[in-house]
Amino acid sequence: MLDTREPAFRENVDLMYRRAVAHLDLPPGLAEKIQICNSTYTVRFGVRLRGKIETFVGYRSVHSEHMEPVKGGIRYAPEVNQNEVEALASLMTYKCALVETPFGGSKGGLCLDPRKYEEHELEQITRRFAYELAKRDLINPAQNVPAPDMGTSEREMAWIADQYARMNTTDINARACVTGKPLNAGGIKGRVEATGRGVQYALREFFRHPDDVAKTGLKGGLSGKRIIVQGLGNVGYHAAKFLREEDDALIIGVIERDGAVVNTSGIDPEKLREWIVETGGVKDFDGGQYVEDGASVLEEDCDILIPAALEGVINVNNASRIRAPLIIEAANGPVTAGADEILREKEVVIIPDLYANAGGVTVSYFEWVKNLSHIRFGRMQRRNEEAHAMLLVQELERLSADKQLGWELAPDFKKRYLQGADELQLVRSGLDDTMRVAYQAISEEWRMRSDVHDLRTAAFIVAIQRVAASYRAKGL
Ligand code: GLU
Repeated sequence: MLDTREPAFRENVDLMYRRAVAHLDLPPGLAEKIQICNSTYTVRFGVRLRGKIETFVGYRSVHSEHMEPVKGGIRYAPEVNQNEVEALASLMTYKCALVETPFGGSKGGLCLDPRKYEEHELEQITRRFAYELAKRDLINPAQNVPAPDMGTSEREMAWIADQYARMNTTDINARACVTGKPLNAGGIKGRVEATGRGVQYALREFFRHPDDVAKTGLKGGLSGKRIIVQGLGNVGYHAAKFLREEDDALIIGVIERDGAVVNTSGIDPEKLREWIVETGGVKDFDGGQYVEDGASVLEEDCDILIPAALEGVINVNNASRIRAPLIIEAANGPVTAGADEILREKEVVIIPDLYANAGGVTVSYFEWVKNLSHIRFGRMQRRNEEAHAMLLVQELERLSADKQLGWELAPDFKKRYLQGADELQLVRSGLDDTMRVAYQAISEEWRMRSDVHDLRTAAFIVAIQRVAASYRAKGL
């Protein structure tokens, strides 16, 4: 995917890191200490499948242990390699610092194409990988807590949690060894859509900052904005769905593996996703026009571009032709450092990955806390809140019964006001708050520093300062 003239993903992240560090006055050696990846464990294991032993290669990288546990997903993809896993682990460190989740950064990966295996085979492979990692505390509620990433989902997390529990029968916190689990295996409501939801909240917060919006040349709010999404996986799908349904945005293009669909009057992501599940691709979908050269759609005229799949899709080859004035990185590393520079010159605003896709790890944090507290959020308060609200409703009803006052309650006021917050509402509220507060910190850095001209550098600065403060507090 990457042009050979461009540095690899890992160097890209390092370049972006160093750009930000240059604005900071860190004690000698600390910038290097923060940047380097502490350790990477490589495991090769065999699994007997279809009558023969197949060997798999997997990694778990720990980038920074300034806070523990360390956190980050496990990716299943054929191109997984040590450099990529280390780059992704470092992004996790900065991401966690930025959204104030008390974790260091980690990442895992297994080289395999999950589409080539049956479910029971994937279970066998996952359990064996989990065993190898758990044996070395690379899966552990207090030390290292994986989560889903590309190619993995709730299903794999349930197998990992069960494998860990089998190996640690007396660990009362066993469920907190991994996040992104299904609800019936200790998961939390709202985790599946959390990254996409976070992208939506990030955009909403961006549009609450008129000075920042002005830099894109866009006017008004999210309503009616024309969006192109690259990748309709878990993240891209949910972001597109919520932006369309709740913010009245128009999804005018969706790019997938086998091409793209465009429609200036809007695509329904839900229908398109059903079509993809049914047919394996976007071709012949009747809700838009098919474009065989999917990548060319990245260069189409739109207001917001959401790369939500692979790294390096916007690179030195196509950056100069990108027409979107605003890019939000729902994927990790979709814009290379070279492209970043070209886009900066073109004054394209980029909401960077370490902030934009942090919704996943934020809700993972809530899930981990839920697992450790052994109680779902809202269970103690909900009915008590409702009883309190009832007192007010009854008083208002009494007053509105007095015809002389002429008061009347709005028809659905009682129903809406009486509803105490359940787990899903609390998760959304926590995620919304997290995305708002983090953006405000980044935006302030962007506005206040005359030498910082982009949100990525601003986001790295906020994150690095926090990691540095934590190292300093430890006496390092
Ligand atoms: N894999 C996701 C990410 O890259 C989620 C990580 C997590 O929840 O720990 O942010």
